[in-house]
Amino acid sequence: MNTLELMKEHGHELVSFHHDRETGLRAIIAVHDTTLGPGFGGTRRWHYATEAEALHDVLRLSEGMTWKSAAAGIPVGGGKSVILTPRHNHPATEAEGRAMGRFVNTFNGYYVGAEDVGVSPQFVDWMALETRFVAGTHSFGGDPSPFTAQGVVNAMKAALAHIGRPVDFAGITVAIQGCGNVGTNIARILHGLGAKLIVADIRSESVRNAVDLYGATAVAADAILTTRCDILCPCALGGVLDGNVIPKLRCSIVCGGANNVLEDYDEDGALLKAREIAYVPDFIANAGGVIELAGLYLDMPEEARARRITDIETTSLQILRDAEHMPSGHAAAVAFARRRIAEAKEQVHAR
Ligand code: NAD
Repeated sequence: MNTLELMKEHGHELVSFHHDRETGLRAIIAVHDTTLGPGFGGTRRWHYATEAEALHDVLRLSEGMTWKSAAAGIPVGGGKSVILTPRHNHPATEAEGRAMGRFVNTFNGYYVGAEDVGVSPQFVDWMALETRFVAGTHSFGGDPSPFTAQGVVNAMKAALAHIGRPVDFAGITVAIQGCGNVGTNIARILHGLGAKLIVADIRSESVRNAVDLYGATAVAADAILTTRCDILCPCALGGVLDGNVIPKLRCSIVCGGANNVLEDYDEDGALLKAREIAYVPDFIANAGGVIELAGLYLDMPEEARARRITDIETTSLQILRDAEHMPSGHAAAVAFARRRIAEAKEQVHAR
């Protein structure tokens, strides 16, 4: 399918490709829906095997941001950007960050960037030398992952309640895939709440950190998804749960930080439902980071941002309940977000 057809199918407003002659930067910005506000979403630096893979990623991620912010009650729309690096672990430079900042600036606030996989507050600082349309610099929000992690833990509480378990992590086993920024912060919070942790990462030093600091048990990266646990918490990349993996899961709950965990929202969501695994859709569980950064960008007081992160628990519970009468958790969450967008439109028309 060509790009315009894909955009039409998923409702995207804009997709823009950029090549910077000086630095060689290759990047794509996608804005999905700006009904509620500017397209807000992080910048991902990744080595994609093909350009089509990068496009697929940025389209899915930007759409997810629309639903995520709407469901979280943050008046921004959905956007995302990706930088296509020439190889894995390609070092980030100030020149590249500035080039990306100039690209973001051409949108004059219609798209607002922030961190995502492969992008640190340092990189956002470099982008911010060229544009004011970013959040998550060292002096403006910083690393959002502690907020994302707190939101995921709040969503886990809802899932425990939903399956009739006490909302108490003592004795609960949580398997975390990916001990990066989000996964490590979730491990820290859950360790404090008495959970037993099983972790895996493709980087051995990240695993060691979680073992040493939070008493986690390490397993091989290819074993974590099918490890026996109460809660499976995917915190690496998307598309990890599909028709091959879901039948082998040995958990009661899937609730994590990674975006687009399901390879196919509808089919895989229905498979999880058929297996009676409670699934908190990723964009509901992991909204803490965007609540914090977009909230700051919008000058929302700290108390209002914190309240929305606490509210992830009630929103998750509502969606888990709605999902019982719908084909999948994903469908229930998108319907919830669409209702929020429709309500906002009605309010604008009523004025
Ligand atoms: P990160 O890069 O810090 O961590 C990802 C970790 O996953 C890395 O340590 C990496 O080595 C590991 N990993 C990659 N493939 C793996 C595999 N197959 N098995 C095991 N480990 C693997 O990124 P992050 O900021 O922690 O984000 C993690 C996920 O959460 C991403 O999908 C991101 O889009 C999403 N997310 C992050 C935030 C945030 O606040 N940072 C907010 C919302 C969503």
